[in-house]
Amino acid sequence: MNIDIGSILAGQVAELPISGRVPVEAFEDVTFAQPGEVDLTVSRAAQGILLRGRVRVHGEGCCSRCLEPVAVDLDEEVDEAIVPESEEQRDPLALDNVLSGTVLDVDDLVRQTVDAALPLRLICKEDCAGLCPRCGANRNDGACACIEEESDGQS
Ligand SMILES: [Zn+2]
Ligand SMILES: [Zn+2]
Repeated sequence: MNIDIGSILAGQVAELPISGRVPVEAFEDVTFAQPGEVDLTVSRAAQGILLRGRVRVHGEGCCSRCLEPVAVDLDEEVDEAIVPESEEQRDPLALDNVLSGTVLDVDDLVRQTVDAALPLRLICKEDCAGLCPRCGANRNDGACACIEEESDGQS
């Protein structure tokens, strides 16, 4: 979704609401079957624009320990000042520019927001016991036979 915000930059309009659904590409092992929901307000700032609102996405990945599916629900607040490229002092920590000319790339904004919000490693629960490295059994379902073997006769 590309939105022309020329009227905001020119000062003709004070605020521009943007809402809709945008598809979200998969990140590593996390896939997004449903489009993300975007609800933003664009307003004029001293330099460039302010973007405020929320991005909600629902996706699915797998637990990095036991490989079971894990739901990923993100509900992220967006509060970004965006300066048009010509006036911009490049800040490596800021969002990469989602504005080209007067066109705001909403898909890219969502992509970067989701990318920043995803945990480095997904786990299904804090105390996930993971898979047995020997037999591959899911230890959340109970101890496998290997554990007893390992502790036997090793004193
Ligand atoms: Zn797990
Ligand atoms: Zn085992």
